[in-house]
Amino acid sequence: MHALMQQRPLLISGLIEHAATYHGDREIVSCQVDGSILRSDWRQLHARAKRLANVLTGFGVQAGDRVATLAWNTHRHVELYFGVSGMGAVLHTVNPRLFAEQIVYILNHAESRYVFFDTTFTDLVAKIAPQCPHIKGFVALCSRAQMPALNVARLYSYEDLLDGASAEYAWPVFEETRASSLCYTSGTTGNPKGVLYSHRSTVLHTFAACAADGLGLSANDSVLLVVPLFHVNAWGVPYAAAMCGAKLVLPGPGVGGESIFRLLRDEACNFSLGVPTVWLGLFDYIEGSAAKLDVSTMRLKRVVVGGSAAPRAIIEKFEKHFGAFVIQVWGMSETSSPATIGNLLPKHAGLPLERRFDLQVLQGRAIYGVEIEIFDADGSPLPHDGKVFGELKVRGPWVAGGYYRGDDGAALDDTGWFPTGDVATIDRDGFVRITDRSKDVIKSGGEWISSIDLENAAVGHEAVQEAAVIGIAHRRWQERPLLVVVKRPDKEAAPADILAYLQDKITKWWLPDDVVFVDALPHTATGKVQKLELRERFKGYRLPTDQS
Ligand code: AMP
Repeated sequence: MHALMQQRPLLISGLIEHAATYHGDREIVSCQVDGSILRSDWRQLHARAKRLANVLTGFGVQAGDRVATLAWNTHRHVELYFGVSGMGAVLHTVNPRLFAEQIVYILNHAESRYVFFDTTFTDLVAKIAPQCPHIKGFVALCSRAQMPALNVARLYSYEDLLDGASAEYAWPVFEETRASSLCYTSGTTGNPKGVLYSHRSTVLHTFAACAADGLGLSANDSVLLVVPLFHVNAWGVPYAAAMCGAKLVLPGPGVGGESIFRLLRDEACNFSLGVPTVWLGLFDYIEGSAAKLDVSTMRLKRVVVGGSAAPRAIIEKFEKHFGAFVIQVWGMSETSSPATIGNLLPKHAGLPLERRFDLQVLQGRAIYGVEIEIFDADGSPLPHDGKVFGELKVRGPWVAGGYYRGDDGAALDDTGWFPTGDVATIDRDGFVRITDRSKDVIKSGGEWISSIDLENAAVGHEAVQEAAVIGIAHRRWQERPLLVVVKRPDKEAAPADILAYLQDKITKWWLPDDVVFVDALPHTATGKVQKLELRERFKGYRLPTDQS
């Protein structure tokens, strides 16, 4: 028997309509590329998104056409989020930190029709334009007076276009399963693959993000969004902020410690999200400042950390400096980002801080809508005892079922699960602990060693700025861990000091067989350490425990 409820589709345009109607005067603060700060609100953002929809219609953009961005976190980029998807086209956010060849590949693969770019990326656009035959025009995200010198056909000023367009626009109503946005994974091997989100998957994920045991976002929050809008839809936060009418603070190109600190303070942000590297930068600034910084007016209470494992040191420092609680999340492009969220349970109330930190270094529990399971090599589910590692698989209405244009064949296994490529444990309460990417796990004497656990322990040493652990071939044990460290410029330590420090922090037989110091670690465009390149660099390295 069919129910008798209305069949209203879940559309992204509904989020911005709601924000404008019920939270119209809630602020949007945007740090622009020229260094100025622009203050507007959800009502103005909605009006400009409608003008943009009229511009796109005038360009001949059809439903399903891809419209690309190469842009920072600014109000204009958020307008594109709502204007492009709202009118039925597909917002294709491109990570400008990728190599130019990868950007060309991605734009051609997606056959994107227009590119909206921040003027910071003018040289990049000049380089890629001749190689992207599908692009019909480029729009610089600036006023006419700020137009860059760029020799491409059909170059427009965004503000000029908006000025010339009407703010009267009725968002079209269509099927909720239509594509809304497209993000490419920054694969460390092979070509990037496109994850194609729908209006339905996005709106459902947004409900989960706003839920109290999700990210718990509400109209009372002032959110500093450090996660880039070009990375997995900024973990869904632009949509969630519109759904609940939160104040949105957009840092533009300035994500260094000092500008993050100022924005948190000046905009009274109580909530923020970012990858660990950003927070390490913030604490470098705070701890390196000659004069003690006044944090008495800061309101920061909750900080979401994900993208890679949140080191315990970050969790402790947020508590120490701000009394703020770190919520670790785990997710990936294919899960629309946060899929497990590190909120605590009633039984954890009143835990001593050290015990609480033990829980916060875990990647959290599955939120409703995401099913997770760990499997052994034969595909059998493993116990949730917090000890046994297995391959983590996920399924749910906002988890990818395949890649754009069928790349990589079937994305799901025979039973409909999406294999994440991460290795994890799950404990009795459902807390996930990511121990590795499956290709990074170190196999020593038939047992597995978690590189992430070792790295997290190592960054707790005062002289360690960044650490990566890789497996090195060993004649007796197959593989043993090598710890590669970038030292803090102002601190000294010898390998033996670091090993002594680790001694009581990790399982004894996990202790790295050697420590080497390097000037820098290789990173992907999303800030993850490129283990593949590191393994390549240390290929043939002979550990001191493996000498003949
Ligand atoms: P991306 O698709 O670029 O967001 O990358 C997703 C991958 O980042 C995951 O498969 C994990 O390997 C890693 N990742 C994300 N969040 C975490 C976390 N909290 N702890 C450890 N690894 C993480």
